Amino acid sequence: MDKILLGCIADDFTGGTDLANNLVRSGMRTVQTVGVPKNFELSGVDAVVVALKSRTIEPKDAISQSLEALKWLKSQGAKQIYFKYCSTFDSTAKGNIGPVTEALMKELGTDFTVVTPAFPDNGRTIFKGHLFVGDLLLSDSSMRHHPLTPMTESNLVKVMQSQYPGKVGLIDYKVIQKGESAISSKVQALKEDGVSAAVVDSLSNEDLMVLGRAVKDLALVTAGSGLAIGLAQNFGLEPNESTIKLPSVVGFKAILSGSCSEMTLKQVNHFQKLGFPCFQIDPIKLSTNSDHIDEAIKWARDQFSSSSGPILIYSTSNPQQVASIQNKLSVQVAGEMVENAMAQLAKELVTLGVGQLLVAGGETSGKCVQSLNISHLQIGPQIDPGVPWCYAYTKHVEGSVTRGEPLVGLHVALKSGNFGSEDFFSSAWKLIEN
Ligand code: ADP
Repeated sequence: MDKILLGCIADDFTGGTDLANNLVRSGMRTVQTVGVPKNFELSGVDAVVVALKSRTIEPKDAISQSLEALKWLKSQGAKQIYFKYCSTFDSTAKGNIGPVTEALMKELGTDFTVVTPAFPDNGRTIFKGHLFVGDLLLSDSSMRHHPLTPMTESNLVKVMQSQYPGKVGLIDYKVIQKGESAISSKVQALKEDGVSAAVVDSLSNEDLMVLGRAVKDLALVTAGSGLAIGLAQNFGLEPNESTIKLPSVVGFKAILSGSCSEMTLKQVNHFQKLGFPCFQIDPIKLSTNSDHIDEAIKWARDQFSSSSGPILIYSTSNPQQVASIQNKLSVQVAGEMVENAMAQLAKELVTLGVGQLLVAGGETSGKCVQSLNISHLQIGPQIDPGVPWCYAYTKHVEGSVTRGEPLVGLHVALKSGNFGSEDFFSSAWKLIEN
């Protein structure tokens, strides 16, 4: 068995793909697994991202799943562990960033880690501990309306402190600008002050490269996907420009969107305006009409009788519509109902002959990947920052997904809500054309 260098635990699937994408582009051969692998032989791999779906589950469950992932990654030889969360620090009042960080630190026997969701390529920067999304503070951004993890506080020291039992500190941009030795001195000073987790300012990729070198000896780093660009250098690896080639594409093209994020709303509108076929899933109908999913499948079958797509099936709605649906059904029931519908649709679409599937929404993607029985993903070309095309392998048949006859592979792209350009749904396909 080859030993891996970096072991990563991602709290959702799209986040895992986002991280794997940055690792691949920085020169690390990376595989993303769906959940903790069983009987998995690795060879020629520098980093593994174990993608969980632990962002919004009960903290105790998130902890036990993360510890199980940690155990497996250690058994594969991982020299450093990377706990990956969202670049907008998506968490509930209870966690799970703080509780999982604490549990991983305890298990690794380490007394200090960094906390930095910065991802400058996607406009996520941290200044004096405050997270910015583009030009807006996190709390002024559309994240304040997120259906599951509304983020109303931009000061990450406060957010982390509210869910982490140890003392949280800050390494600000002035220290980062002075370089690695200044960061090391600051870490020492913070530790002497009893701080065990420090939010780190980062305004640019250069900052993340400096921080990457400074965290070389930490057993655990916690971050968005941004810090990944600074870690390959610690293992003597360099960006490898050669194209990350995936197998040839086959089958119809489809998009499932269960994301209600601002950018997804724009992407759905843009796709509709271009005249592509779209079908809206209505959560209220899902709760009252058992045929609603069948209607969507029948519609998709009709579309594919005359075109290979792309087609879109979406539940994406604006904040007012989401609030009204959540009032009627509750946040949890609406969320689960739509996620389950999307998961069923993913399976049905693949059975209809879809070979290129784009899924919008982190939680939504997690459910779809589970229902498709995908075990791991090979990371391919990047569509937009944070979103690569991937080639999916299933649990049962190595290298293939059951899609009618014969057995062939599936290309998937999993998009976090606010990622991707406005024309993402219509333009993503170009990159994987044969
Ligand atoms: P994002 O990546 O944009 O955060 P997610 O898929 O992670 O997207 O989260 C969106 C959540 O909103 C999911 O639980 C999804 O089922 C739920 N949802 C989707 N559409 C609706 C809707 N119309 N009304 C209420 N909840 C919805």
